[in-house]
Amino acid sequence: EKKQSNNGDVIFRSKLPDIYIPNHLSLHDYIFQNLSQFASKPCLINGPTGHVYTYSDVHVISRRIAAGFHKLGVNQNDVVMILLPNCPEFVLSFLAASFRGATATAANPFFTPAEIAKQAKASNTKLIVTESRYVDKVKPLQNDDGVVIVCIDDNESVPIPEGCLRFTELTQETTESSDVIDSVEISPDDVVALPYSSGTTGLPKGVMLTHKGLVTSVAQQVDGENPNLYFHSDDVILCVLPMFHIYALNSIMLCGLRVGAAILIMPKFEIHLLLELIQRCKVTVAPMVPPIVLAIAKSPETEKYDLSSIRVVKSGAAPLGKELEDAVSAKFPNAKLGQGYGMTEAGPVLAMSLGFAKEPFPVKSGACGTVVRNAEMKLVDPDTGDSLSRNQPGEICIRGHQIMKGYLNNPAATAETIDKDGWLHTGDIGLIDDDDELFIVDRLKELIKYKGFQVAPAELEALLISHPDITDVAVVAMKEEAAGEVPVAFVVKSKDSELSEDDVKQFVSKQVVFYKRINKVFFSESIPKAPSGKILRKDLRAKLANGL
Ligand code: AMP
Repeated sequence: EKKQSNNGDVIFRSKLPDIYIPNHLSLHDYIFQNLSQFASKPCLINGPTGHVYTYSDVHVISRRIAAGFHKLGVNQNDVVMILLPNCPEFVLSFLAASFRGATATAANPFFTPAEIAKQAKASNTKLIVTESRYVDKVKPLQNDDGVVIVCIDDNESVPIPEGCLRFTELTQETTESSDVIDSVEISPDDVVALPYSSGTTGLPKGVMLTHKGLVTSVAQQVDGENPNLYFHSDDVILCVLPMFHIYALNSIMLCGLRVGAAILIMPKFEIHLLLELIQRCKVTVAPMVPPIVLAIAKSPETEKYDLSSIRVVKSGAAPLGKELEDAVSAKFPNAKLGQGYGMTEAGPVLAMSLGFAKEPFPVKSGACGTVVRNAEMKLVDPDTGDSLSRNQPGEICIRGHQIMKGYLNNPAATAETIDKDGWLHTGDIGLIDDDDELFIVDRLKELIKYKGFQVAPAELEALLISHPDITDVAVVAMKEEAAGEVPVAFVVKSKDSELSEDDVKQFVSKQVVFYKRINKVFFSESIPKAPSGKILRKDLRAKLANGL
């Protein structure tokens, strides 16, 4: 579908009609709206232990934790950090923050203390839910900023670090807890999730996702008259992608909860356990990212397991090539394969494949679906800003209630990303074909994606330039098979410096999570820059593509 707007923009919409979206509700009221239908059904399955929480368990426990947060001094609109690998407690903590009227910011537990501290301080985190083994990383925040630390370790015979609280203490029943939580009044524009993303440029920023935004996004994916669009209540959905990234948080966890499905939670990708659990739990939906698709496509182990329960394989977060599509289709004979296209700031889902609907639209190879319902998409010429017609590649822009409210405490960056007419500019180049299918063809923005994880060049450049022997630097993406992309650095060293490639790599490795490590260093005379001082990344990428 497309329509011509007043100012001549060519606007694309979903092939499906708009739906009613109850986005006046809080996220938790919306998620649990149909609770009575699913109360005794399995909700969260802890993959490694097999422990099952029913829907009613999840509802009751997350409300108790919300009351516990309140007791520990978490006020409405305060920020709670979740520093955990995938586990049921992640979900319970997220929902508890929502019930409390607070905001949840999730961080990768593999982050270095400095990376965690940056996010905790920028977001003004009041309480951190983590595990004992990560407490050393956040201890300074407790000492300097009075942050409360809660550990989820459930083995009561092993003491938790001094000064920390035990999660299970918060899950105890108290008489006042429901009164406290029932009296919380939430406005649809309150921020409920605060993921960090560098967006189209610069350093990671707090992305303010509101109750209204997330309700809208979830509804766009799973609500309406076409309930088989993506998930349904009989599904068993695999959650191996990290929940600290908004893709899993929204498109697996929240969507799964909304429809009453069972969510199989795995803390990390381990192929044998994954295949065994798919077989044992009869997983029906497997959301993945291209590196996991690649690992499965290449693994001979798949022969040993019955994977016929899987009806949907979904890939997102990075491009999926045609060869991989074919390879994975061969491994999952009963599955339909489709892509989704997301960006944290967009809530995150912009487009999804409609190949899973009851009366499916055919899935085109390489396409990442069509724009979600109740939203508008346009493609613009990045130089002129003019809107483009079908089959013409341009910058993908999206408008709708699902997009972020803005970046936390950063109106300038917000204004650069969301224009005055409400269009969010993605920094991705795509085209829409005659069948309304969106194809992503290039990335305009700085962002590097290692196995779907964000690497912000500006963050690594800031680290590198702090090295006394480095006078100028630029970090760009280089293509690599297993990771998709890896960060590489062009480095100008000071006169007479004996700095080696290894020195540079180690200098960075010590300060960042594994996927931000510099893969290669190219010593250069200078860094190409525009008169404005902006690094000409395109020139550097072209150099790499041409073998330097
Ligand atoms: P993030 O905010 O971490 O989700 O990263 C968003 C970016 O990932 C997008 O702006 C795209 O550049 C990229 N991306 C996400 N999904 C896809 C996809 N299906 N195909 C290609 N690139 C994608």
